[in-house]
Amino acid sequence: MKNLIIGAAMVALSTTAMAQTSDFNYNVDRFADIEVLRYQVPGFEDLSLNQKKLVYYLQEAALQGRDILFDQNCKYNLMVRQTLEAIYKNYAGDKQDKDYQAFMVYLKQVWFGNGIHHHYSCDKFTPGFTQNWFDKQLAAVPAAQLPLAGATMQAFTATLHRVIFDPTFMAKRVNQADGEDLILTSANNMYEGVTQQEVEAYFDKIKDPSDPTPVMYGLNTKVVKENGKVVEKPYKLGGIYSQAIEKIVYWLAMAATVAENPAQRAYIDRLVEFYVTGSLKTFDEYSIMWAEETKSDIDFINGFIESYGDPLGMTGSWESIVNFRNLAASHRTALISDNAQYFESNSPVDNRFKKENVKGVSAKVINAAILAGDSYPSTPIGINLPNSNWIRAAHGSKSVSLENITDAYNQVAAGTGFNEEFAFSKKEVELMRKHLALADKLHTDLHECLGHASGKLLPGVDQDALKAYGSTLEEGRADLFALYYLADPKLIELGIFTDPDTYKAEYYKYIMNGLLTQLTRIEPGKDIEEAHMRNRKFISEWCYEHGKRDKVIELVKRGGKTYVKVNDYEKLRKLFAQLLAEVQRIKSTGDYEAGRALVETYGVKVDPTIHAEILARYKKLNIAPYKGFVNPIYTAVTDEMGNITDVTISYGENYVDQMLRYSRDYSPLTK
Ligand code: ZN
Repeated sequence: MKNLIIGAAMVALSTTAMAQTSDFNYNVDRFADIEVLRYQVPGFEDLSLNQKKLVYYLQEAALQGRDILFDQNCKYNLMVRQTLEAIYKNYAGDKQDKDYQAFMVYLKQVWFGNGIHHHYSCDKFTPGFTQNWFDKQLAAVPAAQLPLAGATMQAFTATLHRVIFDPTFMAKRVNQADGEDLILTSANNMYEGVTQQEVEAYFDKIKDPSDPTPVMYGLNTKVVKENGKVVEKPYKLGGIYSQAIEKIVYWLAMAATVAENPAQRAYIDRLVEFYVTGSLKTFDEYSIMWAEETKSDIDFINGFIESYGDPLGMTGSWESIVNFRNLAASHRTALISDNAQYFESNSPVDNRFKKENVKGVSAKVINAAILAGDSYPSTPIGINLPNSNWIRAAHGSKSVSLENITDAYNQVAAGTGFNEEFAFSKKEVELMRKHLALADKLHTDLHECLGHASGKLLPGVDQDALKAYGSTLEEGRADLFALYYLADPKLIELGIFTDPDTYKAEYYKYIMNGLLTQLTRIEPGKDIEEAHMRNRKFISEWCYEHGKRDKVIELVKRGGKTYVKVNDYEKLRKLFAQLLAEVQRIKSTGDYEAGRALVETYGVKVDPTIHAEILARYKKLNIAPYKGFVNPIYTAVTDEMGNITDVTISYGENYVDQMLRYSRDYSPLTK
């Protein structure tokens, strides 16, 4: 499972700036609805030579899988990509030409979508250039540079016309519309020549419902019909995608030679075995070994993992992320977690609802070193794997957040003018610029490591007593716990931060977001439904309402615009404490009626006038709804014997150059 930040969600989650200004250039490219960024990999230089080698081999294994995902997404994708790149390289005309510029947008979209469909909406891209212009460019490319694969130029061109210009042909990569044949109407390449009914009948027959440890059926196969029979064709060495898997296996084997410990070596070996045999039992064994190995600093995923790309949710899209432990951040979460009992015992809730022995959760914070396949260029900010339910229950899972990716998002958000537009004055903009990056991370740490882990139910209270309001109230409880302790001197005493104003940045952002700016994610006329958004709203509205007499929070109108003004941060903390005590009481006693009233009164209804105003102001900022990343370049430095003596990292590459380099150097399926 992955944690994605989509579009406005990102800004609403975190309208932050980093405390330290840096010269790093995060902005790489902008086209259509996409913004391409780059990310830093802090700490890479501090890794040992052995660890650097491990990262180097693993990122090679990651990059070699790029073509697999293109082909899984649609069987014409590699052919389209190769043709477009050939036209691009061959083009000698005017670069200001309208058709050429539209062609560049389309090419960049195809790279970003890993094919001809949008990575998020799954809709086919619409080219902005004419078929006539395209034909002229195609005719100018020497035939040897085109992926004709034995077809005549005429047949090849006719196929491209349908694939690129006919909006009804292969219209959606993954179709989820209820009532339609989801296999026949989806353009992905995980099934061919079979109907949904046939696929379901096939898997019904081979699945054993009484098996307590079932494999992930269909995870690494294409389902086709052979001689009138439905069969699975595995992705493996000697099977589908063999040329790419051969390279992946080579680099994984190299990685195994420099593994950090025997357990890590063992799981890498088992992954190689999976690629060689295609056996899903072997994949489960690998997943267990991977989930249980928690000592190493370097970690990675490489394989057919998430199944969002399959309308039936079985076949995994190929992806890889290589990462290593962020030591500073992990130290931070360990400190918080180690002091869990202090926070529990001193919280403002009734003593009857506190745990006598609370255990904090120590979250693993990582920095991504390379993103590939389904995690590139669009990438998650958190991952929780493996996906197999019985493995998660019996052997646990790894949950990580990608700190350097989040940092890059935040840095870029700071440059959009978002805070300047919505914050009350320069003072608040400056407060957030200075402190919000750290305050935001701490809020997340406290929420995850302590908030959810705190408190207890009274004996006999049903854990599902709050029913449909349960998750909103639970998220609210964790948020309130975090907000309350952000302002606690204990955090300064622990050395987690030094400036006592740090918490104010989070308080201001939280209320501004809860009362106003999260409305940018809601369509006009709709109420708030999502649990996290509801909890932020009920907390903010409740505090606004209950602090009215003392003017703790004000809504100020200026030039037709509405702003949040926080007048008294200490009183706001007292309001958080009061509400935390109440939400904990609701949870501990299972008071459904009080919980329902709290959420319905403060957390659901949207004021249409303010909503329209916020949407209009947001639109003017022209923020790209989707973001993705280019990778850094890793270069192995060798001595005269060919031994690696160092691995260096560099960041300068732009989007077009990176895509062309990957197509040139990491394209085993098109050679
Ligand atoms: Zn939560």
